[in-house]
Amino acid sequence: MIPASNPQAQFQAHKTRIEAAIARVLASGRYILGPEVAAFEREFAGYCGTSECVGVANGTEALMLALRALGIGPGDEVITVSHTAVATVAAVELAGAVPVLADVAEGGYCIDPAAVEALVTPRTRGVIAVHLYGQPADMEALLALSRRRNLRLIEDCAQATGALWRGRRVGSMGDAGCFSFYPTKNLGALGDGGAVCCNDAALAARLRALREYGWDAHRSSQLPGGNSRLDELQAAILRAKLPFLDGDNERRAGLAARYAEQLAGLPLQLPRADADTRHVYHLYVVACAQRDALLAHLQGQGVGSAIHYPLPAHRQPAYAGRVRTGGMPRTEHLVGRILSLPMYPELGEGDQDRVIAALRSFPFSAAGAGAG
Ligand SMILES: *Cc1c(COP(=O)(O)O)cnc(C)c1O
Repeated sequence: MIPASNPQAQFQAHKTRIEAAIARVLASGRYILGPEVAAFEREFAGYCGTSECVGVANGTEALMLALRALGIGPGDEVITVSHTAVATVAAVELAGAVPVLADVAEGGYCIDPAAVEALVTPRTRGVIAVHLYGQPADMEALLALSRRRNLRLIEDCAQATGALWRGRRVGSMGDAGCFSFYPTKNLGALGDGGAVCCNDAALAARLRALREYGWDAHRSSQLPGGNSRLDELQAAILRAKLPFLDGDNERRAGLAARYAEQLAGLPLQLPRADADTRHVYHLYVVACAQRDALLAHLQGQGVGSAIHYPLPAHRQPAYAGRVRTGGMPRTEHLVGRILSLPMYPELGEGDQDRVIAALRSFPFSAAGAGAG
């Protein structure tokens, strides 16, 4: 079976360096917020082109803490996109704020700035832009809108570590950039991890306090905080892997180019990178009117695929009927059609050829065309 994603292959590819990093931490006697976390924060900020990085427990808490550190909480509305990992929406409520959900942009999978603008009220304080699947959202429109309406702009970069928008890294453009190091993400730990990047030292100081009980330097709680620390072990593993992230993302882009070339004749809508962006293909998502039959066919051929996501947040029981939304015609159209093909840096061309052959052997009906 060729899996849809493969964190074990990623471990094997970096095994020697990861095991050395783990041994170093075990021997050091420092297991929480020590030199590995501090060094990773410096190195990851340097990579992203921000002055600050604060390591936290996971991507969901990165978003929640960013909102809180920006002063967004009870009574405040935060507009984000319904077509995302549900973590994005959960984080807004964990911060005590009210999520409001917008549709995706025409022809893409990321948030529609015009739909955001239509949902702004006097209570709106923030926008979370999700760079979904590794494709940067329309930052030009989102930055302009945030400035014009005085909103804080938070980038959810969980699926897009290393992606570029007009030469700038995602996570360096909004008020805060939030990352997840869940094992399957482009930069994955071997457990949970997350980070918030920003260019504001005071904001970073609030994040550092909030991740550990609201403490100041004397362990006196100045803010009502919690525990959202990044482990030394995970930080050391991330440091071992960070130098290889650009190479891994290039391999993902190479595989995406091979898919695009080999699948071009089929009635599938293929992903495309927007102009002036570098898509990092966390997922390679195609759209097809016969999605469910195609998924079953691939399964029968030993090819794993997955759906990201089977239900948009506004239709999940936890949120349905309770959360304010705009119209969702594009999201409703794509949700039954999307399919994520195998995509990970260690996917060999031979295995990818098997995926392509399995796709080519599917009996597409004429109705499958016009996949858009
Ligand atoms: C993975 C993910 C998150 C949450 O990250 P965790 O580390 O799993 O908490 C948030 N947003 C998006 C878009 C994600 O893909």
